[in-house]
Amino acid sequence: MRCIVCKKSLVRLIEAYASLPRVGSDSRPLPSGGRLGQCEGCGAVQKPVDDKFQAECEAIYSSYVMYAQSSDGAEPKIFDDAPCGRSTRLVEVISSEIGLGATGSLLDVGCGNGNLLRAFGSACPAWSLAGLELDDRHRVAVEAICGGGSLLTGELAKVEGRFDVVVAMHVLEHLTEPVEFLCQVKEKLVAEGVVVIQLPLWRKNPFDLIVADHSLHFDIPTLLRVVADAGFKPVFVSGKVVPRELVIIARAGHGEAPKPDFSVDSLGKAVGWLEAVRDEASRAMGVVGKENFGIYGTGNAAMWLTETLGTVGFYVDDDPSRQGKNVMTGCPVYGPDTIPAGATVAICLPPELSGQVFERLRTLPVNWLPTPPLEI
Ligand SMILES: [Zn+2]
Repeated sequence: MRCIVCKKSLVRLIEAYASLPRVGSDSRPLPSGGRLGQCEGCGAVQKPVDDKFQAECEAIYSSYVMYAQSSDGAEPKIFDDAPCGRSTRLVEVISSEIGLGATGSLLDVGCGNGNLLRAFGSACPAWSLAGLELDDRHRVAVEAICGGGSLLTGELAKVEGRFDVVVAMHVLEHLTEPVEFLCQVKEKLVAEGVVVIQLPLWRKNPFDLIVADHSLHFDIPTLLRVVADAGFKPVFVSGKVVPRELVIIARAGHGEAPKPDFSVDSLGKAVGWLEAVRDEASRAMGVVGKENFGIYGTGNAAMWLTETLGTVGFYVDDDPSRQGKNVMTGCPVYGPDTIPAGATVAICLPPELSGQVFERLRTLPVNWLPTPPLEI
């Protein structure tokens, strides 16, 4: 299977991946049987695009529920720091890194129900904003934010006009032709326009690997290669401004693609880490029994672990909008203060975040099971 980024080299599969259950990007569980590998030339981590992959993506998107587990459709909050949404954080980064004039135009590709447009409109009320989606299921929400006619549907290539800023937030990881997509974005930018890309960073969040409809899994070298191959030059790159995510701002120009580092089998270690999370949780639930075993979190990782274990007793979430009853499994979702005493709770989150939650909650009368550390 040839790489979907460099189009030259072959993708080497990680065999252990096939035994792991998966989830859709809307957190719905999927059985094991997927494929994951890394390009032997450019190092891009990806799912081979075959008929099964495409059929699974179609099934996921045809019944997609945005942030299905949050009662108000709001995006996940970033709890590491100030509790703001990731759109608000991204607008802050754009504003501080490139400066934004009083007026201008922005197109948000894959705008969903308009979270980024709302955040941008609050910061830059005189800008002209538009969103692009595959269909018009969020038309009312988007037009309530940006005005009538602001939701465009269909292909990017058919969008009329050019924009000062084109945002692609959590888009590239779903594509099977990322370079071609960014070439189209370039055609929609004014001369000094910028593209802003945000996506998950698998090295900081290995749970990204088990999202079945993510065809590509990015780190900084892969992202730099994709933007360079599309004829962009980065003006800002960070894996830190939004926790566990990559942000890049780029203009048309000549960018450099770094050589991949194959000295450490990072992908093999990340898949091994997922196996360790599964095995430790399975062992712990075997000791205390299902009723006394819960999972901290209700997102992709928690639903993946549920599918892996078959069933659990309950969930724990700090976010009040997610407490009550889990819509996927019907199990109760407690706040940290109402966890049954003596229960065991797996903190099913990326390595650093799991450790932070453990430090914050360790004094509660609960047997905490944080995820193991991961050095890659
Ligand atoms: Zn490649």
